[in-house]
Amino acid sequence: MESRIKIIAGPCSAETRDQVLETARALAKTGIYAFRAGLWKPRTRPGMFEGVGSKGLEWLQEVKRETGLKVCCEVATPEHLHQALEAGVDILWIGARTTADPFAVQALADAVKGEYISLLIKNPVNPDVELWAGALERFMNAGVKDISLVHRGFSSYGNQIYRNLPLWHIPIEMKRRFPDIPMLCDPSHMGGKPQLLAPISQQALDLMYDGLMIECHINPDQALSDKAQQITPIQLEKILSHLTVRENVQDQQSLESFRSQIDSLDESLFQILSRRMEISRQIGHYKQQHNMPVLQSKRYSEIVENRSDLAESMGLDRDFAKSLMEIIHKESVKVQLDSPQVSAT
Ligand code: PEP
Ligand code: MN
Repeated sequence: MESRIKIIAGPCSAETRDQVLETARALAKTGIYAFRAGLWKPRTRPGMFEGVGSKGLEWLQEVKRETGLKVCCEVATPEHLHQALEAGVDILWIGARTTADPFAVQALADAVKGEYISLLIKNPVNPDVELWAGALERFMNAGVKDISLVHRGFSSYGNQIYRNLPLWHIPIEMKRRFPDIPMLCDPSHMGGKPQLLAPISQQALDLMYDGLMIECHINPDQALSDKAQQITPIQLEKILSHLTVRENVQDQQSLESFRSQIDSLDESLFQILSRRMEISRQIGHYKQQHNMPVLQSKRYSEIVENRSDLAESMGLDRDFAKSLMEIIHKESVKVQLDSPQVSAT
């Protein structure tokens, strides 16, 4: 793997000294850039493994001494940050749940003042480009110079192919606003399963991302968190050896790069359309239950007018927007009519 691409790999969580050291030794042989391990784990539900906490810092110090790898962990509070810096952790990352909380981000930015740190900022769990930009600005305002972003996908409701939707247009917008800030991809949290790691990683490299963060465990079946998505260091090596790195950094405006952007934006378009149709289906149920007609022409005219104004304000052609809304509306009515009859009992 070409060195322009920084690979950060390691377990979702540090669990035991042996698990950390064995994973790190195996990964060091693959030539990764840095070793990751979560010590304080933000868990969605209580009662799950919440990490080993500060005791894992010693294991990271051992990894650093023995393998020479840079080490990194997540910090969510000023207390974590001070402990990690004190222990010599080289890179800190802000997790997706923390990025979504401006109070927590500001508290960390205040705690960082005067310290030299390397920082990764994951996208917020919700698809809000302003929150992500806000977190970046809070740390830039605190004087942090070495910052990269990590695109790990966005939460959504319902069963999806992805654990977290890529919504590629959001990192593309961040890149447009902050062209000098490196962008990494975390295909592990995005895909949620090993089979998706290679295709997502390649898509990120085609979009000229600067690195990948991938969860690796010496024994994934025994992992205490994110078991379904972790791979072994050997599997990582295999995936990396099949990836193609686009070398033409100077030539970011190349046709290939434009095409990758179009492919990714089309994927986002269809993800959004699929969510829109799902809501239409729910509206279909609601109308059936309340004995309402599917077609409500006043609402339809309002939508077409309002969306045409919106599209025009974004520099799109008004007639194009109208035709597009007509096609979407036609499909939406079909979906509502097709939605299964709900029993009246
Ligand atoms: C992690 O990297 O293990 C993690 C908790 O990530 P995220 O904040 O992206 O969910
Ligand atoms: Mn994880």
